[in-house]
Amino acid sequence: MAYICIKCGKKMKQIDNFVRCQYCGGRILIKERPNMPKEISTD
Ligand SMILES: [Zn+2]
Repeated sequence: MAYICIKCGKKMKQIDNFVRCQYCGGRILIKERPNMPKEISTD
């Protein structure tokens, strides 16, 4: 499963040892979903 930084939009693979984006240092990462990779669900 991949994660996407909402700040810079970079995709990252599984995150283990870091909680920040390894590219920009952003701290908000979302899980990439097959149906809506760029949307954040409200449920
Ligand atoms: Zn980033």
